[in-house]
Amino acid sequence: MFGLMQDRPLMISSIITHAARQHAKSEVVSKNIDGSIARSTYDAIERRARRLAKALIALGISAEDRVATIALNSCRHLELYYAISGTGAICHTINPRLAPDDVAYVVSHATDRIIFVDPVFAPLVAAVAPRIAATVRAIVIIGSAAEMPALALPPGMDLLCYEDLIAAADDNYVWPEFDERSAASLCYTSGTTGRPKGVLYSHRSTLLHALAVNVGDVIGIRAVDRILPVVPMFHVNAWGIPYSAPMAGASIIMPGRHLDGASIAALLNTEKVTISCGVPTVWLGLLQHLRASGERIDTVRRLTVGGSAVPRSMTEAFETEYGVELGQGWGMTEMSPVGTYCQPNAANADLTGDALLRLKEKQGRALWGVEMRIIDAEGAALPWDGLAFGLLQVRGPWVCSAYFGDAPDSALDAEGWFSTGDIATIDPDGFMEITDRAKDVIKSGGEWISSVQLENIAVGHPDVAEAAIIAARHPKWDERPLLILTAKPGHEIDRASVMDIFDGKIATWWKPDDVLVLPELPHTATGKVHKMILRDTYKDYLVK
Ligand code: ADP
Repeated sequence: MFGLMQDRPLMISSIITHAARQHAKSEVVSKNIDGSIARSTYDAIERRARRLAKALIALGISAEDRVATIALNSCRHLELYYAISGTGAICHTINPRLAPDDVAYVVSHATDRIIFVDPVFAPLVAAVAPRIAATVRAIVIIGSAAEMPALALPPGMDLLCYEDLIAAADDNYVWPEFDERSAASLCYTSGTTGRPKGVLYSHRSTLLHALAVNVGDVIGIRAVDRILPVVPMFHVNAWGIPYSAPMAGASIIMPGRHLDGASIAALLNTEKVTISCGVPTVWLGLLQHLRASGERIDTVRRLTVGGSAVPRSMTEAFETEYGVELGQGWGMTEMSPVGTYCQPNAANADLTGDALLRLKEKQGRALWGVEMRIIDAEGAALPWDGLAFGLLQVRGPWVCSAYFGDAPDSALDAEGWFSTGDIATIDPDGFMEITDRAKDVIKSGGEWISSVQLENIAVGHPDVAEAAIIAARHPKWDERPLLILTAKPGHEIDRASVMDIFDGKIATWWKPDDVLVLPELPHTATGKVHKMILRDTYKDYLVK
């Protein structure tokens, strides 16, 4: 017997219509490239999204067509998110930091029909246009007529203006209802190893993920919050904030292009931001700026951080020096992306001081909706004792089952688990801690050394800005850890004192064999330290 409750599909359009109706006074603020501020509301965004939907249909877009965006966080990008998915088409967000070759690859792989591009990324599109002419019919510049660049496009590829399209369309459009399992958006992994792979989110997965992120122990967005996603809308839907914030009714502050410490601090303060989300590098830049300038960020109650491990020194600095809670989450493109979040539960509710900081080094407990387990090399499940580490697997309604274009369920094992590629422990209270990416693990004399733990300790040194541990070849032990780091501006690195910081914190045989200081570290398209490049360059450093 089925329940007798209304069977209404979970539609992305319902989020924006809800926000427009219920939260008319909330703001959507964009910092433009020229530094000026544009202000909009959910009501205006919903109306403009309806016009955009009509414009898309007039351009021949129908259900399941892929429509791409190459854009920063802005009100207009938010309009595109809702217009494209709302019509039943698929919003393919492209990371402008991908190599042009990878941009051409993902556009062709997705068979994008139209690409909406911020004017600042027009040169990137011009560079790849000849290679994507087979699928792309039009390039739409996200701006007004005055912002149109002179762009030479191949025959058959039109150059259109976003504001002209909106002006020419009317808003006489009713958001359609269809199967909630329909595809809504597409995001490719960064492809640090091999080609990028497409993860295809559905309306249902997007709404369930947005709800899960909004609970109090996760990002916990409330209607009175003003949230600044530093995480880009061009990668994993900015952790779902473009959906979870309007669902909650919160105002969104879109930071545009300048993500350095000074620019972010200024925007946090002028826009009275209460929550912000970003990767550790962003918060490192902010911390350095705050310490150097003496500025405060007193309206902020929570910074949410993920994408790579969060060093204890960073959590401690924000919480003790600035009174701002730093909350760590973990996830990946294949998980929409949030899978775990680290907030105490009943087992450790009374922790304070060092013990609480230690807990917060962990990636956290699974959100409702996500199941996780760790397995050994033979595939047997490992105990949750905080000691055994193995490959982390997940399953749940916002976890990918197959990459775009691949056979159904081909990303899963026989029991329906998705392997994350992360190596982790899980403690008896359910807190997961990443020790490594499987590909970054260091195998010294057959034993594993956690690069994440060593990096967290290294960035606790007062002169160190960023640190990476790589597996370097070693004649006796096969691999040994090599510490590569950069100094904070104006600081000198004393290698012996950096080595000393490991003493008493780890087993002696985990200590890095050497320290290498570089002017800067290479980063991936999503702002993580590009360990593959470091490994390729320095893997023989210890044998030379
Ligand atoms: P990309 O590297 O392309 O941005 P993802 O965003 O999907 O790809 O990266 C997911 C990976 O990032 C995870 O599998 C994990 O290795 C790492 N990661 C994410 N959050 C954390 C975290 N809080 N601590 C440690 N590693 C993390």
